[in-house]
Amino acid sequence: MLWANPPERLTKARVGDRMNFIEQIDYQIVTISELDHENVLVIEELEAHGFYDQAMAMVEVYLAFAGDAFGWQNYGGDSHINVPAISLSRLSALIGREKASLRDVLRHEYAHAVADTHRGLMRSRKFTQAFGGSHSSEKSVEYDRKVHVTAYAAVNPGEDFAEVFMKYLKHGGRIPVRFRTPAITRKWGFVSDLGSAMRSGRKRW
Ligand SMILES: [Zn+2]
Repeated sequence: MLWANPPERLTKARVGDRMNFIEQIDYQIVTISELDHENVLVIEELEAHGFYDQAMAMVEVYLAFAGDAFGWQNYGGDSHINVPAISLSRLSALIGREKASLRDVLRHEYAHAVADTHRGLMRSRKFTQAFGGSHSSEKSVEYDRKVHVTAYAAVNPGEDFAEVFMKYLKHGGRIPVRFRTPAITRKWGFVSDLGSAMRSGRKRW
């Protein structure tokens, strides 16, 4: 892990090289203290909903100085989460995601960490029934707002789970009216049941 001098927050700066297809882009530098602050808040949310057990307490969050994703979680590896120091907020809109806050990035990446550390619960008929495919399926489907909480959720069932988990934490477990469709309600229910299962130490359904 690298530690940066606290950089200035930058907006509307020009990004060259690989981003040169975009004239201007809003970006901000994520600092260690911001990441720490947001991480503490998200861990409180995880605790409140049953998702913070011993395995999850082992997951570490790093500020990374490489990588062009929103964040990534070392799935199948050490389970740790990396958040890039440069957060590209407008790029998020281009790949069909709502503007992603740092807190939402963490919520999403913690979902992958939950999946990684609780595979018995994820490799299950219960998951497939809720998400329409197995957790490891790479199959994307067409975005449908009655089925997906974000456009990005249509990428594959694993990302769908992470997006629902993100919204679940964001809304304190209460499903917003716009998400009260049969398909999204099923997914929301899975996340809720997952929290209960983890709280009681269940490894399988
Ligand atoms: Zn993801």
